[in-house]
Amino acid sequence: METELNPWLAAETRFNRAATLLNMDEGLQKVLRTPSREITVYIPVLLDDGRLEVFTGYRVQHSIARGPGKGGIRFAPDVSLEEVRALASWMTWKCAVVNIPFGGAKGGVICDPSVLSQGELERITRRYTADIIEFLGPEKDVPAPDMNTNEQVMAWLMDTYSMHTRQTTTAVVTGKPLDLGGSRGRREATGRGCMIVALQALKRFDMTPENTRVVVQGFGNVGGMAANLMSKAGFKIISVIEHDGAVYNPNGLDIEALMKHARESGSVVDFAEAENMGRDEALLLECEILLPAAKENVITSVTAPKLRCKIVCEGANGPTTAVADDILKDKGIFVIPDILANAGGVTVSYFEWVQDRQGFFWNEELVNTRLEEIMVNAFHDLMAYREKHKVINRTAAYMLALDRVYFAIKLRGLYA
Ligand code: NAD
Repeated sequence: METELNPWLAAETRFNRAATLLNMDEGLQKVLRTPSREITVYIPVLLDDGRLEVFTGYRVQHSIARGPGKGGIRFAPDVSLEEVRALASWMTWKCAVVNIPFGGAKGGVICDPSVLSQGELERITRRYTADIIEFLGPEKDVPAPDMNTNEQVMAWLMDTYSMHTRQTTTAVVTGKPLDLGGSRGRREATGRGCMIVALQALKRFDMTPENTRVVVQGFGNVGGMAANLMSKAGFKIISVIEHDGAVYNPNGLDIEALMKHARESGSVVDFAEAENMGRDEALLLECEILLPAAKENVITSVTAPKLRCKIVCEGANGPTTAVADDILKDKGIFVIPDILANAGGVTVSYFEWVQDRQGFFWNEELVNTRLEEIMVNAFHDLMAYREKHKVINRTAAYMLALDRVYFAIKLRGLYA
Protein backbone atom coordinates (compact mmCIF):
# COMPACT_ATOMS: atom_id res chain seq x y z
CA MET A 1 0.00 0.00 0.00
CA GLU A 2 2.85 2.37 0.83
CA THR A 3 4.16 2.05 -2.72
CA GLU A 4 0.67 2.60 -4.11
CA LEU A 5 0.33 5.82 -2.13
CA ASN A 6 3.68 7.28 -3.20
CA PRO A 7 2.65 10.04 -5.64
CA TRP A 8 6.11 10.21 -7.19
CA LEU A 9 6.04 6.51 -8.01
CA ALA A 10 2.54 7.02 -9.40
CA ALA A 11 3.78 9.81 -11.69
CA GLU A 12 6.65 7.58 -12.77
CA THR A 13 4.26 4.71 -13.58
CA ARG A 14 2.15 6.97 -15.76
CA PHE A 15 5.21 8.41 -17.48
CA ASN A 16 6.52 4.91 -18.20
CA ARG A 17 3.19 3.73 -19.62
CA ALA A 18 2.95 6.71 -21.96
CA ALA A 19 6.61 6.65 -23.02
CA THR A 20 6.43 2.91 -23.82
CA LEU A 21 3.26 3.30 -25.87
CA LEU A 22 4.84 6.18 -27.76
CA ASN A 23 7.94 4.09 -28.39
CA MET A 24 9.95 6.96 -27.05
CA ASP A 25 13.67 6.84 -27.50
CA GLU A 26 15.47 5.61 -24.33
CA GLY A 27 17.84 8.55 -24.29
CA LEU A 28 15.04 11.04 -24.56
CA GLN A 29 13.20 9.28 -21.75
CA LYS A 30 16.31 9.84 -19.66
CA VAL A 31 16.28 13.54 -20.52
CA LEU A 32 12.62 13.88 -19.55
CA ARG A 33 13.00 11.93 -16.32
CA THR A 34 15.78 14.22 -15.18
CA PRO A 35 15.18 17.84 -14.20
CA SER A 36 17.20 20.39 -16.12
CA ARG A 37 18.18 22.29 -12.99
CA GLU A 38 17.89 21.93 -9.20
CA ILE A 39 18.82 24.77 -6.91
CA THR A 40 19.21 24.42 -3.14
CA VAL A 41 19.69 27.53 -1.04
CA TYR A 42 20.27 27.98 2.67
CA ILE A 43 18.50 31.11 3.78
CA PRO A 44 19.68 32.95 6.90
CA VAL A 45 16.74 34.80 8.44
CA LEU A 46 16.55 36.96 11.53
CA LEU A 47 13.61 35.84 13.70
CA ASP A 48 11.52 38.29 15.70
CA ASP A 49 13.12 37.18 18.99
CA GLY A 50 16.59 38.12 17.71
CA ARG A 51 17.75 34.57 16.90
CA LEU A 52 19.25 33.79 13.52
CA GLU A 53 17.79 30.73 11.79
CA VAL A 54 18.83 29.05 8.55
CA PHE A 55 16.04 27.69 6.32
CA THR A 56 16.45 25.41 3.31
CA GLY A 57 14.82 26.37 0.02
CA TYR A 58 14.58 24.63 -3.34
CA ARG A 59 13.68 25.54 -6.88
CA VAL A 60 13.59 22.80 -9.48
CA GLN A 61 13.21 23.49 -13.18
CA HIS A 62 12.19 20.24 -14.77
CA SER A 63 11.89 21.32 -18.40
CA ILE A 64 12.10 24.62 -20.23
CA ALA A 65 11.71 23.04 -23.66
CA ARG A 66 8.32 24.68 -24.34
CA GLY A 67 8.90 27.96 -22.50
CA PRO A 68 9.91 29.43 -19.15
CA GLY A 69 9.54 27.26 -16.06
CA LYS A 70 6.16 27.58 -14.35
CA GLY A 71 5.08 26.30 -10.97
CA GLY A 72 4.24 27.20 -7.42
CA ILE A 73 6.31 27.73 -4.30
CA ARG A 74 5.21 25.96 -1.13
CA PHE A 75 6.14 26.68 2.46
CA ALA A 76 5.81 23.58 4.67
CA PRO A 77 7.82 21.69 7.29
CA ASP A 78 7.95 18.49 5.23
CA VAL A 79 9.02 19.94 1.88
CA SER A 80 11.73 17.79 0.31
CA LEU A 81 13.82 18.02 -2.82
CA GLU A 82 12.32 14.74 -4.04
CA GLU A 83 8.80 16.13 -3.66
CA VAL A 84 9.65 19.43 -5.40
CA ARG A 85 11.36 17.51 -8.20
CA ALA A 86 8.29 15.37 -8.84
CA LEU A 87 5.93 18.34 -8.69
CA ALA A 88 8.11 20.22 -11.19
CA SER A 89 7.77 17.42 -13.73
CA TRP A 90 4.03 17.33 -13.07
CA MET A 91 3.91 21.01 -14.11
CA THR A 92 5.71 20.22 -17.37
CA TRP A 93 2.98 17.73 -18.31
CA LYS A 94 0.14 19.95 -17.12
CA CYS A 95 1.30 22.97 -19.16
CA ALA A 96 1.82 20.75 -22.19
CA VAL A 97 -1.67 19.19 -21.96
CA VAL A 98 -3.34 22.60 -22.11
CA ASN A 99 -0.77 23.70 -24.67
CA ILE A 100 0.43 26.86 -22.95
CA PRO A 101 3.98 28.02 -23.65
CA PHE A 102 5.56 27.08 -20.33
CA GLY A 103 7.82 24.37 -19.04
CA GLY A 104 7.57 22.93 -15.56
CA ALA A 105 9.11 24.09 -12.29
CA LYS A 106 8.37 24.03 -8.58
CA GLY A 107 9.83 25.50 -5.42
CA GLY A 108 9.63 25.12 -1.69
CA VAL A 109 11.03 26.29 1.60
CA ILE A 110 11.20 24.01 4.62
CA CYS A 111 9.46 26.04 7.32
CA ASP A 112 6.31 26.01 9.42
CA PRO A 113 4.29 29.10 8.49
CA SER A 114 1.89 28.51 11.40
CA VAL A 115 4.60 29.56 13.88
CA LEU A 116 6.08 32.40 11.80
CA SER A 117 5.05 36.06 11.95
CA GLN A 118 4.26 38.07 8.82
CA GLY A 119 7.64 39.79 9.19
CA GLU A 120 9.48 36.46 9.37
CA LEU A 121 7.57 35.15 6.35
CA GLU A 122 8.43 38.29 4.42
CA ARG A 123 12.14 37.97 5.26
CA ILE A 124 12.16 34.28 4.26
CA THR A 125 10.43 35.12 0.96
CA ARG A 126 12.77 37.99 0.13
CA ARG A 127 15.98 36.14 0.95
CA TYR A 128 14.80 33.01 -0.90
CA THR A 129 14.01 35.16 -3.94
CA ALA A 130 17.35 36.97 -3.77
CA ASP A 131 19.25 33.69 -3.52
CA ILE A 132 17.66 32.19 -6.65
CA ILE A 133 17.29 35.47 -8.51
CA GLU A 134 19.48 34.72 -11.50
CA PHE A 135 17.26 31.76 -12.33
CA LEU A 136 13.99 33.72 -12.16
CA GLY A 137 12.47 36.09 -14.70
CA PRO A 138 9.52 36.41 -17.07
CA GLU A 139 11.53 34.58 -19.75
CA LYS A 140 13.22 32.12 -17.37
CA ASP A 141 11.05 30.86 -14.56
CA VAL A 142 7.76 32.26 -13.26
CA PRO A 143 6.66 31.09 -9.78
CA ALA A 144 3.13 31.14 -8.34
CA PRO A 145 1.45 30.42 -5.00
CA ASP A 146 1.11 26.88 -3.70
CA MET A 147 0.60 25.32 -0.27
CA ASN A 148 0.83 28.05 2.43
CA THR A 149 1.85 30.80 0.05
CA ASN A 150 -0.53 33.47 -1.21
CA GLU A 151 -0.94 36.77 -3.05
CA GLN A 152 1.05 38.62 -0.40
CA VAL A 153 4.01 36.26 -0.71
CA MET A 154 3.89 36.74 -4.50
CA ALA A 155 3.86 40.53 -4.03
CA TRP A 156 7.01 40.31 -1.84
CA LEU A 157 8.67 38.07 -4.41
CA MET A 158 7.82 40.48 -7.23
CA ASP A 159 9.08 43.44 -5.23
CA THR A 160 12.37 41.76 -4.30
CA TYR A 161 13.02 40.76 -7.90
CA SER A 162 12.12 44.27 -9.08
CA MET A 163 14.42 45.94 -6.52
CA HIS A 164 17.35 43.85 -7.77
CA THR A 165 16.65 44.44 -11.46
CA ARG A 166 15.86 48.12 -10.84
CA GLN A 167 12.58 47.93 -12.73
CA THR A 168 9.11 46.82 -11.76
CA THR A 169 8.72 43.41 -13.33
CA THR A 170 5.23 42.15 -12.59
CA ALA A 171 5.49 39.20 -15.02
CA VAL A 172 8.13 37.46 -12.88
CA VAL A 173 5.42 35.81 -10.81
CA THR A 174 1.68 35.04 -11.06
CA GLY A 175 -1.05 34.82 -8.47
CA LYS A 176 -0.38 38.44 -7.46
CA PRO A 177 -2.98 40.81 -6.03
CA LEU A 178 -5.16 42.46 -8.70
CA ASP A 179 -3.65 45.87 -7.92
CA LEU A 180 -0.16 44.59 -8.69
CA GLY A 181 -0.80 43.02 -12.07
CA GLY A 182 -2.88 40.02 -11.00
CA SER A 183 -5.53 38.67 -13.35
CA ARG A 184 -9.26 38.80 -12.96
CA GLY A 185 -10.78 35.36 -12.66
CA ARG A 186 -7.64 33.73 -11.19
CA ARG A 187 -9.25 32.77 -7.90
CA GLU A 188 -12.11 30.91 -9.58
CA ALA A 189 -9.99 29.57 -12.45
CA THR A 190 -9.25 26.05 -11.22
CA GLY A 191 -12.85 25.37 -10.17
CA ARG A 192 -14.14 26.93 -13.38
CA GLY A 193 -11.78 24.72 -15.41
CA CYS A 194 -13.20 21.65 -13.62
CA MET A 195 -16.69 22.72 -14.60
CA ILE A 196 -15.71 23.35 -18.23
CA VAL A 197 -14.25 19.88 -18.70
CA ALA A 198 -17.11 18.27 -16.77
CA LEU A 199 -19.56 19.88 -19.22
CA GLN A 200 -17.54 18.46 -22.13
CA ALA A 201 -17.69 15.00 -20.57
CA LEU A 202 -21.47 15.31 -20.18
CA LYS A 203 -21.81 16.06 -23.90
CA ARG A 204 -20.04 12.80 -24.71
CA PHE A 205 -22.63 10.91 -22.69
CA ASP A 206 -25.63 12.95 -23.84
CA MET A 207 -26.24 14.12 -20.31
CA THR A 208 -27.35 17.53 -19.06
CA PRO A 209 -26.32 19.32 -15.86
CA GLU A 210 -29.90 19.18 -14.61
CA ASN A 211 -29.85 15.40 -14.34
CA THR A 212 -26.27 15.21 -13.13
CA ARG A 213 -25.66 14.52 -9.46
CA VAL A 214 -22.28 15.64 -8.16
CA VAL A 215 -20.35 14.73 -5.01
CA VAL A 216 -17.59 17.21 -4.19
CA GLN A 217 -14.78 16.36 -1.79
CA GLY A 218 -13.03 19.44 -0.36
CA PHE A 219 -14.81 22.77 0.00
CA GLY A 220 -11.74 25.00 -0.31
CA ASN A 221 -10.54 27.05 -3.27
CA VAL A 222 -10.99 24.38 -5.94
CA GLY A 223 -13.93 22.39 -4.52
CA GLY A 224 -15.82 25.44 -3.23
CA MET A 225 -15.51 27.34 -6.51
CA ALA A 226 -16.32 24.26 -8.61
CA ALA A 227 -19.38 23.44 -6.49
CA ASN A 228 -20.63 27.02 -6.64
CA LEU A 229 -20.16 27.44 -10.39
CA MET A 230 -21.55 24.00 -11.18
CA SER A 231 -24.57 24.57 -9.00
CA LYS A 232 -25.23 27.86 -10.82
CA ALA A 233 -24.90 25.98 -14.13
CA GLY A 234 -27.68 23.62 -13.06
CA PHE A 235 -25.74 20.61 -11.70
CA LYS A 236 -27.20 19.00 -8.61
CA ILE A 237 -24.51 19.01 -5.91
CA ILE A 238 -25.87 16.28 -3.65
CA SER A 239 -22.97 16.05 -1.22
CA VAL A 240 -20.00 18.08 -0.01
CA ILE A 241 -17.34 16.24 1.94
CA GLU A 242 -14.94 18.08 4.25
CA HIS A 243 -12.19 16.94 6.63
CA ASP A 244 -14.62 16.75 9.57
CA GLY A 245 -17.67 15.19 7.89
CA ALA A 246 -20.06 15.46 4.97
CA VAL A 247 -23.52 16.81 4.20
CA TYR A 248 -26.06 15.23 1.89
CA ASN A 249 -29.25 16.37 0.18
CA PRO A 250 -30.54 14.16 -2.65
CA ASN A 251 -32.35 17.16 -4.16
CA GLY A 252 -29.18 19.23 -4.37
CA LEU A 253 -27.52 21.54 -1.84
CA ASP A 254 -27.88 25.31 -1.89
CA ILE A 255 -24.14 25.94 -2.27
CA GLU A 256 -24.19 29.66 -1.46
CA ALA A 257 -26.13 28.96 1.72
CA LEU A 258 -23.71 26.15 2.57
CA MET A 259 -20.77 28.51 2.04
CA LYS A 260 -22.34 31.02 4.41
CA HIS A 261 -22.97 28.27 6.96
CA ALA A 262 -19.35 27.04 6.66
CA ARG A 263 -18.01 30.59 7.03
CA GLU A 264 -20.08 31.26 10.12
CA SER A 265 -19.77 27.90 11.89
CA GLY A 266 -16.34 26.85 10.64
CA SER A 267 -17.69 23.60 9.18
CA VAL A 268 -20.07 22.25 6.53
CA VAL A 269 -21.63 19.80 9.01
CA ASP A 270 -24.96 20.54 10.74
CA PHE A 271 -26.22 22.47 7.72
CA ALA A 272 -29.96 22.92 8.24
CA GLU A 273 -30.99 21.96 4.72
CA ALA A 274 -29.10 18.64 4.60
CA GLU A 275 -28.38 15.55 6.59
CA ASN A 276 -24.96 14.82 8.07
CA MET A 277 -23.08 11.85 6.70
CA GLY A 278 -19.74 10.15 7.28
CA ARG A 279 -16.93 11.13 4.90
CA ASP A 280 -16.31 7.60 3.65
CA GLU A 281 -20.00 6.92 3.11
CA ALA A 282 -20.49 10.13 1.11
CA LEU A 283 -17.59 9.30 -1.19
CA LEU A 284 -19.41 6.12 -2.20
CA LEU A 285 -22.78 7.77 -2.92
CA GLU A 286 -24.39 6.99 -6.23
CA CYS A 287 -23.82 9.99 -8.50
CA GLU A 288 -22.85 10.95 -12.03
CA ILE A 289 -19.75 12.99 -11.14
CA LEU A 290 -17.35 12.55 -8.26
CA LEU A 291 -15.13 15.63 -7.93
CA PRO A 292 -12.23 15.01 -5.53
CA ALA A 293 -10.80 18.45 -4.73
CA ALA A 294 -9.11 17.99 -1.37
CA LYS A 295 -5.95 15.94 -1.40
CA GLU A 296 -4.01 13.08 -2.99
CA ASN A 297 -4.68 9.32 -2.70
CA VAL A 298 -8.43 9.35 -2.19
CA ILE A 299 -9.29 6.83 -4.92
CA THR A 300 -7.19 3.79 -4.12
CA SER A 301 -7.31 0.02 -4.52
CA VAL A 302 -9.54 0.07 -1.41
CA THR A 303 -12.06 2.78 -2.39
CA ALA A 304 -12.09 2.48 -6.21
CA PRO A 305 -13.98 -0.86 -6.35
CA LYS A 306 -16.79 0.67 -4.27
CA LEU A 307 -17.30 3.93 -6.19
CA ARG A 308 -20.74 4.47 -7.72
CA CYS A 309 -20.08 7.35 -10.11
CA LYS A 310 -19.89 7.55 -13.90
CA ILE A 311 -17.27 10.28 -14.13
CA VAL A 312 -14.35 11.29 -11.90
CA CYS A 313 -13.26 14.89 -12.42
CA GLU A 314 -9.92 15.34 -10.62
CA GLY A 315 -9.85 18.81 -9.10
CA ALA A 316 -7.06 17.81 -6.70
CA ASN A 317 -3.56 16.80 -7.71
CA GLY A 318 -3.04 13.05 -7.59
CA PRO A 319 -6.37 11.98 -6.03
CA THR A 320 -6.21 8.61 -7.83
CA THR A 321 -3.43 6.06 -7.42
CA ALA A 322 -1.95 4.26 -10.43
CA VAL A 323 -3.37 0.95 -9.16
CA ALA A 324 -6.84 2.52 -8.96
CA ASP A 325 -6.51 3.68 -12.60
CA ASP A 326 -6.90 0.07 -13.69
CA ILE A 327 -9.84 -0.55 -11.37
CA LEU A 328 -11.68 2.53 -12.68
CA LYS A 329 -10.96 1.38 -16.22
CA ASP A 330 -12.52 -2.03 -15.51
CA LYS A 331 -15.56 -0.34 -13.98
CA GLY A 332 -15.94 1.84 -17.07
CA ILE A 333 -15.60 5.08 -15.11
CA PHE A 334 -14.63 8.04 -17.26
CA VAL A 335 -11.76 9.89 -15.56
CA ILE A 336 -10.87 13.49 -16.38
CA PRO A 337 -7.26 13.38 -15.18
CA ASP A 338 -5.79 16.03 -12.89
CA ILE A 339 -3.28 17.34 -15.40
CA LEU A 340 -6.24 18.45 -17.49
CA ALA A 341 -9.09 18.89 -15.00
CA ASN A 342 -7.26 21.26 -12.64
CA ALA A 343 -5.19 23.07 -15.27
CA GLY A 344 -7.55 26.09 -15.24
CA GLY A 345 -5.38 27.70 -12.56
CA VAL A 346 -2.14 27.55 -14.48
CA THR A 347 -3.98 28.62 -17.64
CA VAL A 348 -5.17 31.84 -16.03
CA SER A 349 -1.66 32.25 -14.59
CA TYR A 350 -0.52 32.20 -18.19
CA PHE A 351 -3.09 34.91 -18.95
CA GLU A 352 -1.73 36.94 -16.03
CA TRP A 353 1.80 36.69 -17.43
CA VAL A 354 0.55 37.72 -20.90
CA GLN A 355 -1.36 40.70 -19.48
CA ASP A 356 1.62 41.83 -17.39
CA ARG A 357 3.90 41.68 -20.40
CA GLN A 358 1.38 43.61 -22.50
CA GLY A 359 0.56 46.06 -19.73
CA PHE A 360 -3.03 45.68 -20.85
CA PHE A 361 -5.60 44.01 -18.67
CA TRP A 362 -8.61 41.98 -19.71
CA ASN A 363 -12.07 42.00 -18.21
CA GLU A 364 -13.30 38.87 -16.47
CA GLU A 365 -15.49 37.84 -19.37
CA LEU A 366 -12.52 37.73 -21.73
CA VAL A 367 -10.46 35.73 -19.21
CA ASN A 368 -13.28 33.21 -18.84
CA THR A 369 -13.93 32.94 -22.58
CA ARG A 370 -10.26 32.29 -23.29
CA LEU A 371 -10.03 29.83 -20.41
CA GLU A 372 -12.96 27.93 -21.84
CA GLU A 373 -11.41 27.87 -25.30
CA ILE A 374 -8.14 26.43 -23.98
CA MET A 375 -9.76 23.84 -21.71
CA VAL A 376 -12.22 22.68 -24.38
CA ASN A 377 -9.45 22.35 -26.97
CA ALA A 378 -7.31 20.39 -24.53
CA PHE A 379 -10.25 18.11 -23.72
CA HIS A 380 -10.75 17.35 -27.42
CA ASP A 381 -7.02 16.86 -28.02
CA LEU A 382 -7.04 14.34 -25.19
CA MET A 383 -10.09 12.56 -26.62
CA ALA A 384 -8.33 12.32 -29.99
CA TYR A 385 -5.35 10.60 -28.30
CA ARG A 386 -7.71 8.30 -26.41
CA GLU A 387 -9.35 7.22 -29.64
CA LYS A 388 -6.18 6.99 -31.69
CA HIS A 389 -4.22 4.95 -29.15
CA LYS A 390 -7.17 3.13 -27.54
CA VAL A 391 -6.04 4.01 -24.04
CA ILE A 392 -7.66 5.38 -20.88
CA ASN A 393 -7.86 9.15 -20.44
CA ARG A 394 -4.96 9.30 -17.99
CA THR A 395 -2.59 7.56 -20.38
CA ALA A 396 -3.90 9.68 -23.25
CA ALA A 397 -3.15 12.84 -21.25
CA TYR A 398 0.43 11.76 -20.54
CA MET A 399 0.93 10.68 -24.15
CA LEU A 400 -0.35 14.02 -25.39
CA ALA A 401 1.92 15.92 -22.98
CA LEU A 402 5.00 13.80 -23.70
CA ASP A 403 4.46 14.14 -27.43
CA ARG A 404 4.24 17.93 -27.17
CA VAL A 405 7.39 18.24 -25.08
CA TYR A 406 9.20 15.73 -27.28
CA PHE A 407 8.20 17.68 -30.39
CA ALA A 408 9.53 20.93 -28.90
CA ILE A 409 12.85 19.27 -28.06
CA LYS A 410 13.07 17.80 -31.54
CA LEU A 411 12.38 21.13 -33.19
CA ARG A 412 14.92 22.94 -31.03
CA GLY A 413 17.48 20.16 -31.41
CA LEU A 414 19.46 18.87 -28.49
CA TYR A 415 22.45 21.07 -27.62
CA ALA A 416 24.57 18.15 -26.49
P1 NAD B 1 -7.72 24.38 -0.02
O1 NAD B 1 -6.85 24.25 1.16
O2 NAD B 1 -8.31 25.71 -0.35
O3 NAD B 1 -8.96 23.35 0.10
C1 NAD B 1 -8.82 22.01 0.43
C2 NAD B 1 -10.02 21.63 1.27
O4 NAD B 1 -10.03 20.21 1.47
C3 NAD B 1 -10.02 22.28 2.65
O5 NAD B 1 -11.25 22.93 2.87
C4 NAD B 1 -9.80 21.09 3.60
O6 NAD B 1 -10.44 21.26 4.85
C5 NAD B 1 -10.40 19.96 2.80
N1 NAD B 1 -9.93 18.64 3.23
C6 NAD B 1 -8.72 18.30 3.74
N2 NAD B 1 -8.68 16.98 4.02
C7 NAD B 1 -9.88 16.48 3.67
C8 NAD B 1 -10.46 15.19 3.70
N3 NAD B 1 -9.79 14.14 4.17
N4 NAD B 1 -11.71 15.02 3.23
C9 NAD B 1 -12.41 16.07 2.76
N5 NAD B 1 -11.93 17.32 2.72
C10 NAD B 1 -10.67 17.53 3.16
O7 NAD B 1 -6.87 23.81 -1.23
P2 NAD B 1 -7.16 23.99 -2.78
O8 NAD B 1 -6.35 25.12 -3.30
O9 NAD B 1 -8.62 23.96 -3.02
O10 NAD B 1 -6.48 22.66 -3.35
C11 NAD B 1 -7.14 21.40 -3.30
C12 NAD B 1 -6.43 20.44 -4.22
O11 NAD B 1 -6.41 20.97 -5.56
C13 NAD B 1 -4.95 20.16 -3.90
O12 NAD B 1 -4.67 18.83 -4.29
C14 NAD B 1 -4.21 21.13 -4.81
O13 NAD B 1 -2.90 20.70 -5.07
C15 NAD B 1 -5.07 21.05 -6.04
N6 NAD B 1 -4.95 22.19 -6.96
C16 NAD B 1 -5.24 23.46 -6.56
C17 NAD B 1 -5.16 24.51 -7.46
C18 NAD B 1 -5.54 25.92 -7.08
O14 NAD B 1 -5.59 26.78 -7.98
N7 NAD B 1 -5.86 26.20 -5.82
C19 NAD B 1 -4.73 24.27 -8.79
C20 NAD B 1 -4.43 22.96 -9.17
C21 NAD B 1 -4.56 21.93 -8.24
